[in-house]
Amino acid sequence: MQAITLLGSTGSIGTQTLDLVAQYPERFRVVGLTSYSNVTLLAEQVRRFRPQIVAIGREELLPELRSLLTGMRPLPELVAGTEGLCQVAAHPAAQRVVTGIVGCAGLLPTLAAIRAGKDIALANKETLVAGGPVVLPLVREYGVKLIPVDSEHSAIFQCLQGVPPGSLRRIWLTASGGAFRDWPVEKLNQATLADALKHPNWVMGRKITIDSATLMNKGLEVIEAHWLFGLDYDRIEVLIHPQSIVHSLIELADTSVLAQLGWPDMHLPILYGLSWPERLATPWDPLDLVKLGSLTFKAPDHRKYPCLQLAYAAGQAGGTLPAVLNAANEAAVALFLQERIRFLDIPRLLEQVCERHQVIPAPSLEDILEVDAWARQQVELLAQQAPAQVLA
Ligand code: NAD
Ligand code: MG
Repeated sequence: MQAITLLGSTGSIGTQTLDLVAQYPERFRVVGLTSYSNVTLLAEQVRRFRPQIVAIGREELLPELRSLLTGMRPLPELVAGTEGLCQVAAHPAAQRVVTGIVGCAGLLPTLAAIRAGKDIALANKETLVAGGPVVLPLVREYGVKLIPVDSEHSAIFQCLQGVPPGSLRRIWLTASGGAFRDWPVEKLNQATLADALKHPNWVMGRKITIDSATLMNKGLEVIEAHWLFGLDYDRIEVLIHPQSIVHSLIELADTSVLAQLGWPDMHLPILYGLSWPERLATPWDPLDLVKLGSLTFKAPDHRKYPCLQLAYAAGQAGGTLPAVLNAANEAAVALFLQERIRFLDIPRLLEQVCERHQVIPAPSLEDILEVDAWARQQVELLAQQAPAQVLA
C-alpha cells in the first residue's frame, strides 16, 4: 500500500489521479489533498478519500471548507494558505507526493515535500522550469526520486529504464501542435480564446491548453527535460506528431531509437508515476495500431510558434531567465484567458519582458521568487501602459 499526497487535487491531473486511487484501493491511499479555491469539489473528495490533512490555498475559504465538512468523523486536519499547502506536502504519513498544482505556485510546496524526504511524481512543470537551479540540488541532498508525470517525460523515463549510463545521445519530445496546428500562420492574428481552447487531442486545464496552442507548453517541457534528464539543450529535439500516440523518443549511442506509445490519456503516465518501478495491470483498451493506420511527424514551424525558440533561448541562458519567461507566460496567459490581450500578444509580451531582465546566473530561491513577481508586474504594466504598442 502506497500512501500518497496530492497537491492540486481538484484540477485535471488531480481528478485523474483520484480516479486511479479509486481504481486501485488496495495499492494507493490518500494522506493529503489540496485545492486553491474549489471548496465544493475538495469537500466531496475529502469525504470520499478520507485524507488525514487538507489544505485550501485561499485562506478566506477555510471557514466554508470547515462548514462543508461538518459532521465528518474523524475530521481531517484543515489548513490554509501557502503555509498550509507546504504542511500537507510535508506530512509524515505520505511516501510520494503528486504535484498537480498549475504554475510556479507549486514551487514552495514541492520544496517542502523534498525537504521532508518525499519522492515526487511531478506534473507541475512550471516548478522545474522556474525552480530547477534550487530544486535539483535539494533532490540530490535529500536523496528523493523525481518521477515525471508529464506524458512526454514519462515516455522518456520509461524508455530509459535499463539503458546503461552514458549511452543516451538525444531525446525527441513530441508535440501535437495544439489548437492551431492546421491554421496557416497568417490567420493567427484572428485567433480567439474559444479557438485556442479547442485542443485537438487532450482534455486538460485551461492554462496548459493555451500553452499547447502557442507551443510554449513544449518550450517549458524542453526546459523540464533539461532538468529531469540532465541534458544540454542541443540534445533535446521537438517533433510535431499530430496524432499524439508516440509520447516521445530517445536516441542511443548506436543510433537505436526507442519510443513509448499509448492513447492520448494522462491516466497511464499518472499511473506509472504512482506505481514506478512497478507496472500495474489495467483494464484499459490496448493500443490499436491497425486502427490508427498511420503516424506522421514533421519539424515545428518556428515562425508559427515563436514561444518555442524563446524557451530554448531562456533555457540556454539559464539562471533566472527561465523563471522570468515562465512567470511572464503565466501572467500573459491569464490576460489572454480574460480576453484582455490577443493571442499573438502572448509571445510579444514574453519577448519584451525577457529582454528587460538582467539574468542572475546562479539564483537562490529568493532570487527566483523575486524575478517571478517582477515578471508578472512587467506583463501587467506593458499590457496597461502601452496597449497600442503591445497590442499593435
Ligand atoms: P488545472 O488548472 O486543471 O488544475 C490546477 C490545480 O492546481 C487545481 O487543483 C487548483 O486548485 C490548483 N491551483 C491553481 N492555482 C493554485 C495556486 N495559486 N496555489 C495552489 N494551488 C493552485 O491544471 P492541470 O491541467 O491539472 O495542470 C496541472 C499541472 O500539470 C500543470 O503544471 C500542467 O502543466 C501539468 N500537466 C497537465 C496535464 C493535463 O493533462 N492536464 C498534462 C501534463 C502536465
Ligand atoms: Mg506534456
